[in-house]
Amino acid sequence: MTIQKSSKPDLIAIDVDGVLCDYALGFSKLAGLDPISTGAVRKWDWSDRLRRTRFFEARAATENAADFWSGLLPLTSIGERDMLADVAKRCALFYLTDRSVIGREALALTTKWLFFWGFPQGSVMILDKDRKVSTLTTLREEYVIRGVLEDNLETYRLMRKADLPCYLRRWPYNTASLTPDDWVVGSLAEFICRVFYNY
Ligand SMILES: [Mg+2]
Repeated sequence: MTIQKSSKPDLIAIDVDGVLCDYALGFSKLAGLDPISTGAVRKWDWSDRLRRTRFFEARAATENAADFWSGLLPLTSIGERDMLADVAKRCALFYLTDRSVIGREALALTTKWLFFWGFPQGSVMILDKDRKVSTLTTLREEYVIRGVLEDNLETYRLMRKADLPCYLRRWPYNTASLTPDDWVVGSLAEFICRVFYNY
């Protein structure tokens, strides 16, 4: 008996902020705090470090601030970007990011940032968490979704509920309620190994 291989191409989808891009470091500087990298953030709403009014002021300052977004630093190594480039040769690559706060420039800023830091070319889509799930569910008709990487716990849970093969990029702010059944990785490299090399 021959096993019919699916004719659909493979696809992976990767979130940007908190996975590829150190939003926290830029945001903490903008908010006048000591610089804190994503790996040191315990509460993503910053309520342990900032009053609510100050948080929303800082958040508002990121809107349409091209300098802020283009000045953010990557969270991944050059080696990991090479691994991703290798994978992208045989698989469709989508960058899904909830950067609607930026407005109309979100797509151009994100695309430029990815290019500047040497990430392989892929389709960039600006989507909130519900639309990430519905978009990937629709893409499943055309592609075999091999893996999705996300740092937002709520988004990750929605994806898993929708039977999407989503992995959570582990950080101090998203691990409190995890169980051994959760799919958790500590880096982009680990995600690629889990998805493509049965690591
Ligand atoms: Mg994120």
